[in-house]
Amino acid sequence: MRQIGHYLNGAHAAGGGATAPVFNPATGEVSGQVAMGGAAEIDAAVVHAAAAWPAWAATPPLRRARVMFKFKELLEHASKRLAAAITAEHGKVLSDAEGEIQRGLEVVEFACGIPHLLKGEYTEAIASGIDGWSVRQPLGVVAGITPFNFPAMVPLWMIPVALATGNCFILKPSEKDPSASLILAELLAEAGLPAGVFQVVQGGRATVEAILAHPGIEAVSFVGSTPVAEAVYRGGTQANKRVQALGGAKNHLVVMPDADMDQAVDALMGAAYGSAGERCMAVSVAVAVGDVGDRLIERLAPRVRALKVGPGTDKEAEMGPLVTAEHRAKVSGYVDQGVREGAKLVVDGRGLSLQGYEGGFFVGGSLFDGVTPSMRIYQEEIFGPVLAVVRATDLGQAVKLVNDHRFGNGVALFTADGGAARAFASAIKVGMVGINVPIPVPAAFHSFGGWKSSLFGDHHVHGMEGVRFYTRYKAVTQRWPASIRAGAEFTMPQIGR
Ligand code: NAD
Repeated sequence: MRQIGHYLNGAHAAGGGATAPVFNPATGEVSGQVAMGGAAEIDAAVVHAAAAWPAWAATPPLRRARVMFKFKELLEHASKRLAAAITAEHGKVLSDAEGEIQRGLEVVEFACGIPHLLKGEYTEAIASGIDGWSVRQPLGVVAGITPFNFPAMVPLWMIPVALATGNCFILKPSEKDPSASLILAELLAEAGLPAGVFQVVQGGRATVEAILAHPGIEAVSFVGSTPVAEAVYRGGTQANKRVQALGGAKNHLVVMPDADMDQAVDALMGAAYGSAGERCMAVSVAVAVGDVGDRLIERLAPRVRALKVGPGTDKEAEMGPLVTAEHRAKVSGYVDQGVREGAKLVVDGRGLSLQGYEGGFFVGGSLFDGVTPSMRIYQEEIFGPVLAVVRATDLGQAVKLVNDHRFGNGVALFTADGGAARAFASAIKVGMVGINVPIPVPAAFHSFGGWKSSLFGDHHVHGMEGVRFYTRYKAVTQRWPASIRAGAEFTMPQIGR
């Protein structure tokens, strides 16, 4: 059985203690055992990181950027190997795994510009003979805790920015698909990153608790479900750490009567069923405005029935299996729930079995019509290939639906009306907005994050928000003895004298 361990102080490290099974979701077989680290492994990682930090923080940003340039090149060359590792443990189709690596690479490219991004501001003569400037300095040892659904991209939202700004980073990946993290560690070492600057501690809840409790960790970036995000935010901030905790989602796509219907249906198919709906930016609610509802259902239903479900390695497959048997049971349970609540199940994806892959965690796509805000299938995140169609009389009612929802990660509007689009983008209480774009994931040089229960903390990830999160601002005011001597001053210093 393949043993999946940690990566500490520049080398692979065996686990030793408890382990958890890792599955191949396409077959249902156990493919490895991952180490479940605890306080001892986190403490060891912090000790190594703290030792490496002074030299890394003092390394000129230009040299840190050169490590990022090399890492980018190595990551590009390793993308097939990394994608295969993702598909083997997550289940998503290979082309989608390559897509997530590409989105992660873009953050590495952003971090290559760190000398420019870290430039401070300078004012000559803020007062007679006195100059002032500001700098951003690294925090020290920081940690990232990541979810199963993007085992390369989500860590890469954090790692390049944290490292390029001069921090040491400890990654606690999802125990469901831990192998991608070790490939990233190897590539970073090959790129010239000193030992201890990037480390991986595998594990689950106990590992996260050890991170939150450790006084040597300055900041925590978390991405995962809302209940855990909230608990990590509370626990981390109570321990005086800086925390950004991104949570779950229920993303709506609003279709106006003037929208290009073919474009809207294509968008809904990809956004609701791509990656089997296991994306935090997946669309799980279609809001049909005016008379759009029947037209939408008419076009969606045959497409959902015809979805090509198969193992991620099958080039023809549009959708792979879900990540675990438990998750499949949860998703199917939500479909049962929707039926009980009185929603109309137009396409039923439950109980799908694929020949030759009977043990795999497959479900087909499901489509509900007549969903209302009082239903649990509307309120809660299902995180599977289940699309709920809700009807609204006008744009105002659609906006109210979105704004009243507890999640606020992503939203999209499909319309041909520029005025409606402008008003929507301004009024909507959601962090990432798409106009005729179904999955509006911001580019790496902008920042990613939701509102309301989709994010706890002040900063979104990557882009300049990431640079701010991983650095402390310092303002320096300087006078040299040769400049004018004013004697002791007992009033507040006044600028401009
Ligand atoms: P999860 O919350 O179960 O796990 C996330 C991380 O927290 C993992 O590393 C896991 O080991 C750890 N963890 C799990 N339970 C814990 C507990 N009780 N205490 C402490 N740590 C715990 O999430 P998941 O199932 O891996 O990922 C799916 C979720 O992540 C969905 O809700 C999805 O919307 C969300 N997500 C959000 C974003 C975003 O940007 N907002 C991006 C990707 C995924």
